[in-house]
Amino acid sequence: MLLKCNKTIPERAKHFVVKGSCTPTPGGGCPVASNVQTTPGDMTERGCTYAGCRGVVGGPVKDVIQLTHGPIGCSFYSWGYRPHLADSDFHIKYSFTTDLEESNIVFGGEQKLLQSIIEAAEEFPEAKGVFVYNTCAPALIGDDGKDIAKIAQEKIGKPVVFFRCEGFAGVSQSLGHHVGNETIFKELVGSVEPEGDFSRSINIVGDYNIKHDIRTFEPLFEALGVRIITRFTGNVSVDEIKIMHKAALNVIHCARSATYIADMMKDKYGTPYIHVTLWGIKHMSDALRATAQFFGLEDRAEQVIEAQVAKIMPQINHYRSRLAGKKVFIYQGGPRAWHWPQLLRELGMDVIAAATTFGHEEDYDKIYENVGDGTLIFDNPNALEIEEVLTTYQPDLFISGNKERYIAYKMGTPFVNGHTYDTGPYAGFSGMVNFARDIDRAINAPVWKLVQKKARPVPGWNGNRNETSMAEAF
Ligand code: SF4
Repeated sequence: MLLKCNKTIPERAKHFVVKGSCTPTPGGGCPVASNVQTTPGDMTERGCTYAGCRGVVGGPVKDVIQLTHGPIGCSFYSWGYRPHLADSDFHIKYSFTTDLEESNIVFGGEQKLLQSIIEAAEEFPEAKGVFVYNTCAPALIGDDGKDIAKIAQEKIGKPVVFFRCEGFAGVSQSLGHHVGNETIFKELVGSVEPEGDFSRSINIVGDYNIKHDIRTFEPLFEALGVRIITRFTGNVSVDEIKIMHKAALNVIHCARSATYIADMMKDKYGTPYIHVTLWGIKHMSDALRATAQFFGLEDRAEQVIEAQVAKIMPQINHYRSRLAGKKVFIYQGGPRAWHWPQLLRELGMDVIAAATTFGHEEDYDKIYENVGDGTLIFDNPNALEIEEVLTTYQPDLFISGNKERYIAYKMGTPFVNGHTYDTGPYAGFSGMVNFARDIDRAINAPVWKLVQKKARPVPGWNGNRNETSMAEAF
């Protein structure tokens, strides 16, 4: 399917399908080209490998020096852009960089890296280690950052973990997730053997504590009688990561960014894992049931679920009565595009278009399973494509990230920030109420009565930004 705005890059056609009008793949999903190099000329919104490693997986570790080895720009633009909160703010408050300049590119940046690690460790003795993220420039000139990390580790007497996550290594941030998982597993997991009984313990894998999501579901697992050892990675210390191999079960929330470490733990330690979703009423209930089943605690799970659902349903019913029948376009980094159609159904809403930035084939198969016929499913959209889909499909709500917020507003479309949440938390049962509240505030905001008809380009828009009715809107 070729959008009008893609006349000059017809290669984009293979990234779009409409459910019901395509021949499903052998896996039962949709044949959307994904996880491939961006077509030249396509102004992709993807992040780089470094962004995935530093911004998603390594960055939430709260008590290490987060040091970017590269030019200042890589570090600046990765500082504090995801609200992966914790009960301390060291990892968010400070951003460290080797600040490579022209002379370092000519003569090498290794000595600067060594000095930076030592200086940062001396300046912040409370830090439990140093995470060093490699970027494009030192990788291209051939700095041996791993060797420097080894030398620095001996000098400062704390773990110095080197991530080979230079931005150009992958087609999107997705490779950075993989590098982050693999490096943390190899360098840290299992490096301490604590005493104690871990027979009823789990790790939450692939939750990044966006706006304190963990606070919504941690008490629910505790109410089952299950202890969470490590949260990979959100509100987590480096010491907790070292012992995560002791858990009896890995409970994986984000399958795309964190199944890697669960697979490695299964291979090395025999730790089983389950995939769950921790957003939404049905998903959260299923997650508790699956965890309880593993430990033989089914009765407790039913008690917890019954009490929680009874508590939130009056509010959910209130929002459902205001939102039922509304149509949603959802565009997220990866799995939220298939996690959230169920939540929206719980509010009586339907997904009519779904896209991801870095999803792989399995993600698109799951989107396909979770949406109805006629839904547009597409990969790695750019701003013009988003404008055209908003115009053509006229959704009542666009759920996406901060980059797309202003496209939505300019197109007269109510918007919810599903990536970093403006408010939140959205996980667990109580988070579902916040999610519904924010959707209601977005869709039913009085401002739309004043501007929406004027701001929205008419259906049949020809894909040329200058020829829409936008010019006459105000
Ligand atoms: S692509 Fe390279 S230069 Fe750009 S932010 Fe990523 S690591 Fe830095």
